[in-house]
Amino acid sequence: MDEKEIELIGDNHISHNTDTPMLPTAFNKTDAEKIKTIEYHFSEIMKELGLDLSDDSLSGTPYRVAKMYVKELFSGLNPENKPQLSVFENKYGYNKMLVDQNINIDSACEHHFLPITGFAHVAYVPKDKVIGLSKINRLVDYYARRPQVQERLSMQILKDLQESLDTEDVIVMISAKHLCVSSRGIKDKNSTTTTLVYGGCFEKKQYRADFLNIIDQPST
Ligand SMILES: [Zn+2]
Repeated sequence: MDEKEIELIGDNHISHNTDTPMLPTAFNKTDAEKIKTIEYHFSEIMKELGLDLSDDSLSGTPYRVAKMYVKELFSGLNPENKPQLSVFENKYGYNKMLVDQNINIDSACEHHFLPITGFAHVAYVPKDKVIGLSKINRLVDYYARRPQVQERLSMQILKDLQESLDTEDVIVMISAKHLCVSSRGIKDKNSTTTTLVYGGCFEKKQYRADFLNIIDQPST
């Protein structure tokens, strides 16, 4: 790929796959080993930019960045960090829409490694299984903590919930700001990007309208 193509893919946020592209060797190293290697490479980046790493304020930056990547921002790459999605039998027979809204999104765009921040709104119509409410938030956070494109993030959450809950009747909406749009390139400070993915009953307009109507209400 030449540099022009690389820029084009980044600015158009093109991605081809629902799964995050990973190497087969992704988890051969421990977190501690990864932090050490990233620390080294990040210090090389800083030096190349001309920064003096002997300065007190800068000397710990490569380690801080490495630890933040492995343990926080990109911890969702490692399946070991996936939350246990315990589902329960739908004993009370609730079979209408359940909406979990304003779930924080703290992600990063995989084309520029800059933050994506915003909210996810998720709804499902239970069949035989229900899930603990906070588990939806944890699942959203798990998939967000990877280098991402917003479309793929939405689809990964949808697919996982559909499989865990054993129903197609799930909808996921994400509205987010991309720092790579607001702080570089076009430098648009106000625009947000919204993605909406769904299956099952949400293919019907009325279900989507009900969902959008609920998330439009001011939350308490
Ligand atoms: Zn980007």
